[in-house]
Amino acid sequence: MHPFEFHAAATEDEAVALLASHENARLLAGGTTLVDLMKHDVERPGHVVDINALALADVTEQSDGSLRIGALVRNSDLAHHPLVRERLPMLSQALLAGASGQLRNMATTGGNLLQRTRCYYFRDAASPCNKREPGAGCAALHGFNRIHAILGGSEHCIATHPSDMAVPLAALDAVVRVRGPKGERAIPIAEFYVLPGDRPERETTLARGELITAVDIPATPFATRSVYIKVRDRASYAFALASAAVALELDGKTIRDARIALGGVGTVPWRSREAEQALRGQKAGGETYMRAAVAALEGAAPHEHNAFKIELARRTLARALARAGELS
Ligand code: SF4
Repeated sequence: MHPFEFHAAATEDEAVALLASHENARLLAGGTTLVDLMKHDVERPGHVVDINALALADVTEQSDGSLRIGALVRNSDLAHHPLVRERLPMLSQALLAGASGQLRNMATTGGNLLQRTRCYYFRDAASPCNKREPGAGCAALHGFNRIHAILGGSEHCIATHPSDMAVPLAALDAVVRVRGPKGERAIPIAEFYVLPGDRPERETTLARGELITAVDIPATPFATRSVYIKVRDRASYAFALASAAVALELDGKTIRDARIALGGVGTVPWRSREAEQALRGQKAGGETYMRAAVAALEGAAPHEHNAFKIELARRTLARALARAGELS
């Protein structure tokens, strides 16, 4: 591990100032991503800014019914929070499907949003990787790409976004609140993550010095009827090969509205408005669900080892829709 200077920020202003004044500074919250990557020599920050003392660990209900989740709320606490379990079951289920109990006890909401890809070439400092070293090339494109993305990739990077939590957040139109040298701003999650394009090293629209302070989840009453399903190699602890977060609003047997996002298949948490559109006004049932699932994977571009993900993602989504449709 490379030497670095450690700072313990006592206030948000101090954290922002430290982050803005050092080009190679990284924030330390739960450390479940950063410390790993530092040990692997993938991250080499010159400055590590510990933000664990900041007052950002609350879940609060706002006057408009939305939930504000502090950036330092631990994944376990969020998964078991009564308001999340009652109103947003797919978020609770996604959090509990992620990592292990010990990791969930440490991992934070802000850190979960910013976790780096599990592409094995990214995590191997000896392999060429455009995300780790811009311009170096991408070992996955013609290498072993079984776990890689089939949606949103480019000729420079096909890494999947690894978060489970971010999948329901994409479906729920969450808003990421940040504080930086120029003040505060709110970023809709659809504008927070960016496709790799020709700059895979840039993963979000966060500007230099910006600190995530909270995530707002707008009130979505029909999200009480929601489900997250994750398919992976190992049920105990593994990243998604395909996952689906779905919420359904039913009027009798007719689908009035739907929210759908996929994980494990996209370079960003993948909202599927095509699948949502395919469901609205249709009769709830297996054929409708599979039509929506086909629409969701319409633009998929598989690589040598991951074509299986197309059918896997379709079936995962159709199963999640069927399960949501059965909920009372
Ligand atoms: Fe790097 Fe992306 Fe290629 Fe993986 S897929 S090796 S992260 S550029």
